[in-house]
Amino acid sequence: MPELPEVETVRRGLAPYLTGTTITNVIVRRRDLRIALPANFEQSLKGRTIKDISRRAKYVLMHLDNAQTLIVHLGMSGSLVLKESLPDEFRKHDHVIIECTGGMCCIFHDPRRFGLMTLASEKNLASHKLFSVLGPEPLDAAMNGKVLYKTLQSSKAPVKSVIMDQRKLVGVGNIYACEALFLAHIHPSRPANAVTEKEAKILAAAIKKVLEAAIVSGGSTLRDYVRSSGDAGYFQHHFKVYGRQKQPCTTCKNKIEVIRQAGRSTFFCVHCQK
Ligand SMILES: [Zn+2]
Repeated sequence: MPELPEVETVRRGLAPYLTGTTITNVIVRRRDLRIALPANFEQSLKGRTIKDISRRAKYVLMHLDNAQTLIVHLGMSGSLVLKESLPDEFRKHDHVIIECTGGMCCIFHDPRRFGLMTLASEKNLASHKLFSVLGPEPLDAAMNGKVLYKTLQSSKAPVKSVIMDQRKLVGVGNIYACEALFLAHIHPSRPANAVTEKEAKILAAAIKKVLEAAIVSGGSTLRDYVRSSGDAGYFQHHFKVYGRQKQPCTTCKNKIEVIRQAGRSTFFCVHCQK
C-alpha cells in the first residue's frame, strides 16, 4: 500500500508536468472505484486548469481554477502514471485517463479498485468527510514536540499505536513507526502517556526524519509500485529495524526482536529502546 512518502513522491512527480495545464479530455473506463465516480465527473474536469497539486495524508489534491479540487487516493494498488501522449491502447485496470494541453496524460491505474477519485469544493475541503477525521500532518512545522507530547498524554495505549492512529497523526505507517521509535530510543509498547516531553520532542523529530528520508529516496514500499514517471520498481530503503529480526542492531549489535502489536509486526531493539 502506498504510504505517505510514496504519495508525496507521486505528488512531486506529477506537479511539474501538470501544474498550469488545462484538462482537454477525460476518459472513464470504469466508474465503480472504491466509491463511484460522480455523475458529472468528466464534465466538471473538462476545460479546467490545474492550478496546483498538494497532498493531505495519503490523498493527492489537484486544485482547479473553478475552486474545485480533484481528490485522488491510490488505495492498496493504485498508481498515477504520466504519459507524454494518449497511448494507442490502454492497459487492463487503466480506469481514468485525464488528457491535458500539450498531450500529457495522467492515467489512474488500480487493479484492486480500493482507490478513489472524487471532486470537492475547495472551501469545504477541511470539513469534507474524507478529511474531517484526519489528524495533523507529521511534516508540518506545527507538528512539534509540544503538540506530539499533548497527543501522547491523552492516551495510555502503546505509543506505537498512538502515532499510527490517523485521527491523532496522519501518515505514519508501520515501517515508519518502527523506525522513528528506534531513532528516539522509545520502546514501542510504552504507554503513550508515559513518554516524557523531552522524548516526545525527539520522537517528533525522528518521525519527520524517517518520512523525509523515505521521500528523498523516492518512497519505499514492499509492494509493486509504479512511480508517476511511469517506471516500475521498488524503492527499498535501508531500514534500521524494520524487517531485520534476529539481525544485529546497528547501534549495540544485539539482535533485533519482533513482536505483534495490534495485528502488525513491530521490530525493535530491546537494549536501545526503553
Ligand atoms: Zn540496539
